Amino acid sequence: MSTSTYDSNETGATLWRDGRPVYDRGDTVCVIGAGASGLAAIKNLREYGFGVDCYERETGVGGVWNWRHDRSPVYASTHLISSKPFTQFPDYPMPDSWPDYPHHSRLLSYLERYADHFDLRPHIWFGTEVVRVERAEGERWDVTTRSAGGHGVERTHRYAAVVVANGHNWSPKMPSYEGLEEFTGKIVHASEYKDTTLLRGKRVLVIGAGNTGCDIAVEAAQSAAKCWHSTRRGYWYAPKYLRGRPADQINDAVLALRLPLRLRQWLLHRTLRLSVGDLTRFGLPEPDHKVYETHPIVNSQLVYYIGHGAITPVPDVVRFRWNSVELAGGEEIEPDVVVLATGYLPRFEFLAPDLLDVDGSGRPKLHLHAFVPGAPTLAVAGLLQPDSGVFPLVHWQTVAIARWLRLRETAPHKAEAFTAEMVTGAGRRWTRANLKDSSRHWFEVNHTDYLRALQRTLDKLEPVT
Ligand SMILES: Cc1cc2nc3c(=O)[nH]c(=O)nc-3n(C[C@H](O)[C@H](O)[C@H](O)COP(=O)(O)OP(=O)(O)OC[C@H]3O[C@@H](n4cnc5c(N)ncnc54)[C@H](O)[C@@H]3O)c2cc1C
Repeated sequence: MSTSTYDSNETGATLWRDGRPVYDRGDTVCVIGAGASGLAAIKNLREYGFGVDCYERETGVGGVWNWRHDRSPVYASTHLISSKPFTQFPDYPMPDSWPDYPHHSRLLSYLERYADHFDLRPHIWFGTEVVRVERAEGERWDVTTRSAGGHGVERTHRYAAVVVANGHNWSPKMPSYEGLEEFTGKIVHASEYKDTTLLRGKRVLVIGAGNTGCDIAVEAAQSAAKCWHSTRRGYWYAPKYLRGRPADQINDAVLALRLPLRLRQWLLHRTLRLSVGDLTRFGLPEPDHKVYETHPIVNSQLVYYIGHGAITPVPDVVRFRWNSVELAGGEEIEPDVVVLATGYLPRFEFLAPDLLDVDGSGRPKLHLHAFVPGAPTLAVAGLLQPDSGVFPLVHWQTVAIARWLRLRETAPHKAEAFTAEMVTGAGRRWTRANLKDSSRHWFEVNHTDYLRALQRTLDKLEPVT
């Protein structure tokens, strides 16, 4: 654990809250989480002159990309699905020698090098979990932590601002099928899936057509005795390469033309029809929506293994019985293992739900998915699901957060306009497509629309000299 900023600044228990001592950290900003988003937040806040204390419940940086972490949902075969130039931080490129779609171990090494290059580790308190973030006077925050094992005493520090970067891909979204409890086969959520050991020689049902569900179905195709892949609807499956280029780079080139949405959709439909073909031939349902209306699925192998008969596409699950699963249409199958690739939900258990204006389904209402109306010194970083890589967006998002916090001090009049914008902009979507109503799309953004919006925000938050 690092010592520098913390010990030298801790002045003792100068304040009290509910009979507990509160250590005042002055103008320091607290960052929660040292995954990609937390690291970018520390770096950019430091560049804008802030002292930073980051708390990380694990013992290393990297978040989901550190697959040894308790809550990392990354599995042995995970490779990026967004290509390298669209995934790297703009101020810290990945090595030229790396492939278009690096393995997860390289992503971890990249984030570790990023932390070292910008000397971020001295600001991080590893093995320390944030358990409560509560309002204090003057728009400041009391952050209570304890050691991640759940042992040890709780300690509370008072901060000028808090940036939440706790990730949204770790808390499983569990489906509620009738009869699930009585099923005697093995059921795991994709978050527990690490490698094919679980699948080898078994009859496997994978539920869910997200990128993880498709990846696991492909792994089952190569190791299981049988693989059924259940999806609720037909989807557009993009290959990793189109005309020899990573698919997201082709998509970006199309977006750069600034064509109307309908024309872009027509172009992509045509491209996919020509490259992937008509998937109904393979027994997959016809998509019931246009491209861009669901999160892109990027997988070159799924159709290949369906064509080989190693994956059997099946419709939605209706109910479970003690040894079987009934599918829509009445067919009954008998899997030994069921993998629920049903996604994740965001969780902010250390914050009162009203702070992020979280609705009954758990969805927060923020401006630019980052700024909190009514709590100007609280921000969220990385709550994004783009059609490209996350890191460049998080980089500019955290620059905007740092600029905003600085502007509040240096030019409060200029900052006022943005406070109003937070309220009017809260909950706005950053994609023109009519997205399917699903928690999977809560944070979906078109990366060019979102980056343009961030650019406008950065201009408004330009520091006053
Ligand atoms: C299988 C998979 C494949 C993916 N593929 C891609 C891809 O191809 N391209 C892409 O751009 N993105 C991809 N992603 C998305 C990925 O989540 C982001 O790239 C990015 O790593 C998110 O970083 P983050 O810091 O926001 O969250 P995380 O990586 O989840 O980090 C959050 C950190 O906060 C810590 N934390 C949480 N709660 C607390 C607390 N209470 N106290 C202290 N610490 C806490 C956690 O321990 C963790 O280290 C993929 C994700 C998965 C799961």
